[in-house]
Amino acid sequence: MTDEFDTEIYYDDDADSSHIEDETVAVLGYGSQGHAHAQNLADSGVDVVVGLREDSSSREAAEADGLRVATPVEAASEASVVSVLVPDTVQPAVYADIEDELEAGDTLQFAHGFNVHYGQIEPSADVDVTMIAPKSPGHLVRRNYESGEGTPGLLAVYQDATGDAKQQALAYAEAIGCTRAGVVETTFREETETDLFGEQAVLCGGVTELIKAGYETLVDAGYSPEMAYFECLNEMKLIVDLMYEGGMGAMWDSVSDTAEYGGLTRGEAVVDETARENMEAVLEQVQNGEFAREWIAENQAGRPSYRQRRIAEKNHDIEDVGERLRDLFAWAEETDDESTENDS
Ligand code: NAD
Ligand code: MG
Ligand code: MG
Ligand code: MG
Ligand code: MG
Repeated sequence: MTDEFDTEIYYDDDADSSHIEDETVAVLGYGSQGHAHAQNLADSGVDVVVGLREDSSSREAAEADGLRVATPVEAASEASVVSVLVPDTVQPAVYADIEDELEAGDTLQFAHGFNVHYGQIEPSADVDVTMIAPKSPGHLVRRNYESGEGTPGLLAVYQDATGDAKQQALAYAEAIGCTRAGVVETTFREETETDLFGEQAVLCGGVTELIKAGYETLVDAGYSPEMAYFECLNEMKLIVDLMYEGGMGAMWDSVSDTAEYGGLTRGEAVVDETARENMEAVLEQVQNGEFAREWIAENQAGRPSYRQRRIAEKNHDIEDVGERLRDLFAWAEETDDESTENDS
């Protein structure tokens, strides 16, 4: 995937809407991804039925958005394409309920490969199993569709029972706006393992630990928590924005020569060979299924460790300092994300 010439990227011209326009798509779940897929599909002219439990608080929202709502079982029974957009941790239970509604030639569609890749959902051999995973939270998938921009996404085919799996997935991607921006082909294994590794080692886990370690180092050395907060957390966004827009080069060009020299010589002393070995160990636990088994067991036990760690993280000094400073200064933007506990 590192060589751009090895990576297939699909755009609107590669998708043929005839592979989805006569199908009924059941969208199970009306959360971050579900509400966006359902509305975008419907606006693209696809027949959509949203599958939600009788007591689901999302029913009202889906109906207010002009969509037809049924139970997951009814929706799956009626549909030829079932898009599984309930949280990853509840997908196996929801799948067990709807499994019998899948007929030969139907499509089971995912936005993340966890359950199929780790064997928590084992679809029968006569259905297509595909993935269209937008690389962005659902509210942006919806907003980008409405503005005409589109959202980049990933496509994968796990099982092609009909011979039409990839063409239908591309048509689905077009209908939710992903082929406008570009869709990269991958596999369930690659999507799942890179997603888990990235969020654990670099994005969610790596970044927060780097920030806390820097903050604690400064505060332990006697500097003020406010200064430590600004240097280690607040400025992170400015640096990441520069890299997002123009790569590392744009960031290095934009900081002072002193920052550039200091960063280039000292960064690798912090994220050193030991840190790389630790990353390899994290990747291995993703690859050999150890992380998946732990997380599944944690959920079965009612999430005791997850809850305890969430509380500890909330109680870190940096959170109090940040809350105070964000109230005092006008630079903090409204947060855009609605979700708290989710599985993205
Ligand atoms: P979510 O948590 O936002 O919403 C899930 C919805 O499912 C809820 O709103 C509710 O309508 C329904 N639901 C919740 N619990 C349920 C239960 N016990 N039984 C039946 N229905 C229930 O989920 P999400 O973040 O949209 O994730 C859906 C899928 O999309 C996951 O596979 C996730 O990995 C993937 N994904 C998410 C993102 C993201 O940014 N959120 C990005 C790419 C892929
Ligand atoms: Mg078809
Ligand atoms: Mg059916
Ligand atoms: Mg500085
Ligand atoms: Mg993820």
